[in-house]
Amino acid sequence: MSFAEVWRAARPPAAGLHLDSAACSRQSHAAMDAAARHARHEAELGGYVAAEAAAPALDAGRAAVAALTGMSAAGVEFSTGSRHALDLLLSRWPAAGRTLACLPGEYGPNLAIMAAHGFTRRMLPVDGTGRLVLDEAAATLAADPPDLVHLTPVSSHRGLVQPLAGMARICTDAGVPLVVDAAQALGQIDCAVGGPADYAVYSSSRKWLAGPRGVGVLAIRPELAARLGPGPPGGDVNVAAQLGFSVAVAEHLAAGPATVRARLAEVGALSRRVLAEVPGWQVVEPVEEPSAITTLAPVTGADPAAVRSELLAQHRIVTTAAGVERAPLELTSPVLRISPHVDTTEADLAAFAQALVAVTAAR
Ligand SMILES: *Cc1c(COP(=O)(O)O)cnc(C)c1O
Repeated sequence: MSFAEVWRAARPPAAGLHLDSAACSRQSHAAMDAAARHARHEAELGGYVAAEAAAPALDAGRAAVAALTGMSAAGVEFSTGSRHALDLLLSRWPAAGRTLACLPGEYGPNLAIMAAHGFTRRMLPVDGTGRLVLDEAAATLAADPPDLVHLTPVSSHRGLVQPLAGMARICTDAGVPLVVDAAQALGQIDCAVGGPADYAVYSSSRKWLAGPRGVGVLAIRPELAARLGPGPPGGDVNVAAQLGFSVAVAEHLAAGPATVRARLAEVGALSRRVLAEVPGWQVVEPVEEPSAITTLAPVTGADPAAVRSELLAQHRIVTTAAGVERAPLELTSPVLRISPHVDTTEADLAAFAQALVAVTAAR
């Protein structure tokens, strides 16, 4: 079996065509079993006793995330997702230094969290496609450094890959703290890029790493952690979901992160080639962009939300309609997004293209 076939065989068959990993990937049997087993242990042993017994497995999960992000395991904590992680981090940020620089394509909910914590934002320089221009960014950071750079290397509304390693180098040179939203990046691109002493990265379980919903991680370097205020008192946690995520990360490491990344890049390029000819839609990303997210902009008035609904209802194809609220400073009209995982075949993509032609023509 090929690596992609192994990935597919490790989970239940999809009821249709699942092209929505940027929203929520399909979990493996092993990840689901770990969560279910823990729920059983809670009933048998008591929830708090079961949590103590699960501690080594959770430590292994944190160590696996640390390996993927180039952080130390002691600096990794679980959250309930990416937004929760950013909220936690910014709530602890020193009150005196709340200016940040981010991209015009920044994720809308992140902008709201930044504003809620009193951050003033300025924009990093980009080219006409929304891609960060590194040398200009280096010059502006050196001339007038913000208190932190917040970078989302792969966004929700577009499969463009931002130069994370380059930004990490620039922030290191300029001595500017770097915070990375790796919700779409972890599992898709290399996130172990060094970075400054003041470095934090956060992500979600359910996207490219294919863990359960309702879990995320926040990793903070000790130098930065030492400057932060205390966090809010912790609430109850879903240990079963954290265990499922830990198994999913271990499976990702076992499959080989570089192998997964290469296959996702291949699936992305294949998607864009197959979709280039669909009438009424324009592929937004360059064909070879190393990401499995492909977005389609309507050119003759199709409504992505309505098309997404009909693809699901009539063809059992799961996609996302991304509205402008995902990137309110960049996106000017909604797009249709597909985000196939490693097991997606050329035949799957051809079937999607055919369904899209039918749905578009019928409207
Ligand atoms: C999905 C997403 C988030 C939010 O993740 P949650 O786990 O739902 O909070 C943040 N940033 C980006 C780029 C995303 O795609």
